[in-house]
Amino acid sequence: MVVIGAGPYGLSVAAHLRAAGVAVRVFGEVMGSWRHAMATGMFLKSTPDATDLSAPEPGGRLADFRRVHGESELTELTPIPCDVFVRYGQWFQKRYVGDVEPARVAGVDRAPSSSGFAVRLDDGRQLTAAAVVVATGLNGLASIPKELLRLAPEGAGAGALVSHTSHHSDLSRYAGQRIAVVGGGQSALESAALLHEAGAQVEVLVRERRVRWGSVPQPRRPWPQRLAQPASPLGTGWMLAAVCRAPGGVRWLPAAARLLLFRRALGPSGGWWLRDRVEDVVPVRTSCRVTRAEASGSMALLGLAGPGGSEGLAVDHVLAATGYRLDIDALAFLAPTLRRRIVCVPGSKAPQLTSMFETSVPGLYVTGSLAAPMFGPMMRFVAGTQYAATRVARDAARWVVAP
Ligand SMILES: Cc1cc2nc3c(=O)[nH]c(=O)nc-3n(C[C@H](O)[C@H](O)[C@H](O)COP(=O)(O)OP(=O)(O)OC[C@H]3O[C@@H](n4cnc5c(N)ncnc54)[C@H](O)[C@@H]3O)c2cc1C
Repeated sequence: MVVIGAGPYGLSVAAHLRAAGVAVRVFGEVMGSWRHAMATGMFLKSTPDATDLSAPEPGGRLADFRRVHGESELTELTPIPCDVFVRYGQWFQKRYVGDVEPARVAGVDRAPSSSGFAVRLDDGRQLTAAAVVVATGLNGLASIPKELLRLAPEGAGAGALVSHTSHHSDLSRYAGQRIAVVGGGQSALESAALLHEAGAQVEVLVRERRVRWGSVPQPRRPWPQRLAQPASPLGTGWMLAAVCRAPGGVRWLPAAARLLLFRRALGPSGGWWLRDRVEDVVPVRTSCRVTRAEASGSMALLGLAGPGGSEGLAVDHVLAATGYRLDIDALAFLAPTLRRRIVCVPGSKAPQLTSMFETSVPGLYVTGSLAAPMFGPMMRFVAGTQYAATRVARDAARWVVAP
């Protein structure tokens, strides 16, 4: 069996499969997204308790990793640097997963002469697998609004005047330049802080009326408050607590309600610890929409619409912190014939999944963000690995069990 991806979900699924004695090959760079699709200097927004990968036995939590390495305990009040999380993932892989092959999967199709899958790697190797787990996270799903795409004509490559935040691991290359960051969530606000600190002239363009910030965690809340606003890995409140407690229950909601939950739960906001680095430090325009964008020589000219009317803004580069679109068709490694057989959640391009994360193609499983329209917002975060990995591994084991 094959697991595609070695991030939190791929590693957790693989750990459970290996513990169950299933012969599994795992492809991808260990914690690849956290090493290359996030800028140096970033921190996790989630708290340490919500950042554990799912191990098949006790001892694999982030706190265990810190203890084993003699590092101080992280609390709700200590933002986790990305590189700590990467080291934790690497340690988890060595301890619970073992071999991970760094090759990328370039193609998956039905095997011609069996019920399994033909898997093609980017180095030309081919193999067959009885079952495939897609754990590729948000790779390939970055979304740039069409009005900004005019700044990235086909073939512009690194010279394009717009890029997505996920394309960067080092924002210091923009030192001394004028940069417009489009978006009002954590990626936008943290990128803006890092750009400013690197010596860029930054302006953040936010569609919403105001920037929302997370509140400072209160480790010892009085019980009436805990009752009124129960805690969950994604924050406080009854709705979040319910969807985190029962992701399987979310699956029974009508598709329209699940999609609404996906779009509305956890709207854009910045982590509480980021506020001081942005507010009154970096210029932020709220209620501001980019209506057009065009290149003028080496500059990007943006047309902006806001409460005060329309105006223009000239910058050296536009950084789109505009999120991701869940679209199974964007997974180029899945053969078109296979993709066509994947039934999607009505009104979306995210796959319809069984209670065990299997798509309508028997033996093909999907985890992570692409599973969020079925199981709720927890699947967008590391906190969902326990629920997903235990179920995927239990079900997928029926396809192949090692002798
Ligand atoms: C800027 C940013 C900040 C975030 N902060 C948090 C946070 O604080 N807390 C939190 O819980 N979540 C956070 N998230 C969400 C985060 O992406 C997920 O929680 C988590 O990484 C999902 O794990 P994953 O395994 O699904 O995907 P990923 O971590 O993206 O891992 C995907 C893996 O697939 C591999 N891969 C991709 N394509 C292929 C291929 N064709 N062949 C082989 N391998 C492939 C990649 O190399 C990588 O190893 C953040 C996301 C972003 C973008």
